[in-house]
Amino acid sequence: RAARNAKDVVRGYAPAMGQVFLRRFQLVTQFRQALDTGQVEVHYQPKVALPGRQVVGAEALVRWWHPEYGRLDPDEFVPVVEATGLVDALTSFVMERALIKVREWMDRDLRMSVAVNLSVRNLNDESFPDRVSEALLRHDVPPELLTFELTESSVMEEPERSMPVLRRLHALGVVLAVDDFGTGYSSLAYLRTLPVDEVKIDKSFVLGMGTDLSDMAVVRTIVELGHSLDLVVVAEGVEDDAARDQLVGMRCDIAQGYLISRPLPEDRFEAWLQARTVKARGPKSETVLTL
Ligand code: C2E
Ligand code: MG
Ligand code: MG
Ligand code: MG
Repeated sequence: RAARNAKDVVRGYAPAMGQVFLRRFQLVTQFRQALDTGQVEVHYQPKVALPGRQVVGAEALVRWWHPEYGRLDPDEFVPVVEATGLVDALTSFVMERALIKVREWMDRDLRMSVAVNLSVRNLNDESFPDRVSEALLRHDVPPELLTFELTESSVMEEPERSMPVLRRLHALGVVLAVDDFGTGYSSLAYLRTLPVDEVKIDKSFVLGMGTDLSDMAVVRTIVELGHSLDLVVVAEGVEDDAARDQLVGMRCDIAQGYLISRPLPEDRFEAWLQARTVKARGPKSETVLTL
């Protein structure tokens, strides 16, 4: 009887597991071609200074339009791609797009930065800072308009390898941000040791703020901690006015979230910007939100 149950379990389970593995395998083998054939797109989500309305930059977020599976979000395929050397190609792809974008904005007198998410592999790659430096020169973009977002856990994996890479990136003058702060190993002592300029409060706390007092306390604490370390504090997952108002009250510096805009494909992001660009007096234009 037990044997039969076990057999049923195996029978019922094996095809499902097989499908999961098959799909992961497909994603790995197809990703290179997907990059080359335009299936992979970079979307942009604005970052807005608080309490004002100025758009200070955008985060680049990748999407894959898979011919069989439809739209894939990064949480599904980035971890798979990260397990292979292909993540270098992903990061280069996103960074290239992002730098082209910043250059276009500069040419239109828009001073906006772009943020690119790094994976642990980039942080442990000692040739990465040289590639970044080369790309900045080639696109004629000043380093302070490029931000890299990294999670603490990606630094923690092999700190003796990632710290020198981080220091060299920082020495180039690019902005370094700790993403998803508050999850994982977050600690004051640890944050102090990282050569970073910005801390992004994980969206789970920001989303919970309205209903959960402990989430509110975490957000408030991270804002204060960040400021005491001279960091720019960004809140992600800002979905409503109440959250925005609370963040303003806490003196949080920058907000990102669906309240302002979802991540948008390039053309729609440009239209979004256009609708909110107010020509300032004088030769320079300035992007101002006119909500
Ligand atoms: P992340 O860097 O923390 O990006 C923020 C995520 O929160 C994005 O999910 C964004 O769409 C979502 N988000 C923004 N505002 C709100 C909001 O108000 N409410 C809610 N519920 N969600 C919001 P997305 O685009 O699915 O990306 C997921 C993760 O995938 C990113 O988290 C990042 O870790 C990773 N990722 C995205 N693009 C890249 C990339 O080019 N390279 C690497 N290595 N990782 C990437
Ligand atoms: Mg990020
Ligand atoms: Mg995050
Ligand atoms: Mg994340």
